[in-house]
Amino acid sequence: MEELLKRLIQAESTCRAGELDTARIIAEFLSGMGVENSVDIWEQNRANVTARIGSGGSRRPILFASHLDVVGPGEGRWSYPAFGGEERCGRVYGRGAADMKGGITALLGAIKSVLEDGLELQGDIIFVATAGEETDSCGMLRFADGWEGESPAGIIITEPTNFEVVTAHRGMLWVEVTTLGRTAHGSMPQLGVNAITSMRRFLNRLERYEFGGDRHPRLGGCSMSVNTISGGKAVNVVPDRCRARVDMRTLPGLSHEGILEDFREMFVELGRDNADFQADLEILRSVDALETDTESEFVREVLRVVGASETCAVGFTTDGPHLAGLGAPIVVFGPGDGNLCHKPDEYIEIADLERGAEYYRRIIEAFLC
Ligand SMILES: [Zn+2]
Repeated sequence: MEELLKRLIQAESTCRAGELDTARIIAEFLSGMGVENSVDIWEQNRANVTARIGSGGSRRPILFASHLDVVGPGEGRWSYPAFGGEERCGRVYGRGAADMKGGITALLGAIKSVLEDGLELQGDIIFVATAGEETDSCGMLRFADGWEGESPAGIIITEPTNFEVVTAHRGMLWVEVTTLGRTAHGSMPQLGVNAITSMRRFLNRLERYEFGGDRHPRLGGCSMSVNTISGGKAVNVVPDRCRARVDMRTLPGLSHEGILEDFREMFVELGRDNADFQADLEILRSVDALETDTESEFVREVLRVVGASETCAVGFTTDGPHLAGLGAPIVVFGPGDGNLCHKPDEYIEIADLERGAEYYRRIIEAFLC
């Protein structure tokens, strides 16, 4: 199994390189097992790979959803090459080892063992691995858009949870606010409208913004952080544009549309106080929060087959909420330590790949055999 993982890591699926090479390795692996699959390609190197292991049975399918892309190696020093896929002391190192090529490998291992042992499936296994989870979820949105057919009995997102059964995470709303002004010579600022001054007004107002709603027992509160700002071209020119990017993390039940409406309302308010104030709002990314009913039959059964006593919540966000339209309970579950993600020396224990394959197989057996 680790040989497949090494190849997947070596097929550097960063934003720059795209996911196509990784998708092709998976497609080849699936074809090698006699599983029909399809690679959906766009923009030359972006790709999703999907497969359906048919059964002819009448049970509803189980969907396993993964992402193909990885973040870049980052600034920190790696002890082993980030895209080498080197094996050391029972671990495979490299970008994506945990997040989440390890999960994909374990799942493919489970599918392989199910096929080799000739298990008689009573419902289909649907496999999808998508592009762009780390940036804009383009692959998952594309997959969800094209979805047709009956709702799965359940959806497993194969992110690294260290085998914890995760049913909740916060949502993510990233926006860019641009304040607009009018340029003028720096010696005569009264002839222009300074966009940085407008941004200061907006940021002051934002300090007092409240999301509303109660704290969540497991997820805590919402959060907001202004993480980039840029504006101005020269010291002697009044700037006509200033941009700030805001990262918000939201709780289940909170409407992102409502927050955007609040932002627009703040613009109007500031415009009333100052006729020169003008601003635009752009949504960079919006992923809802996840909260699956922990009492649902699917969740109870997953807990039982993997031998866990309770579900938990995590700090990171997944593509899971984009699958809400499929009408199935969603659980995040996979091998690997989430704390290693996006850092130098990311790795996965080979023993965890095997354990992951065993758990995914048990899930398949529980629902489809
Ligand atoms: Zn991930």
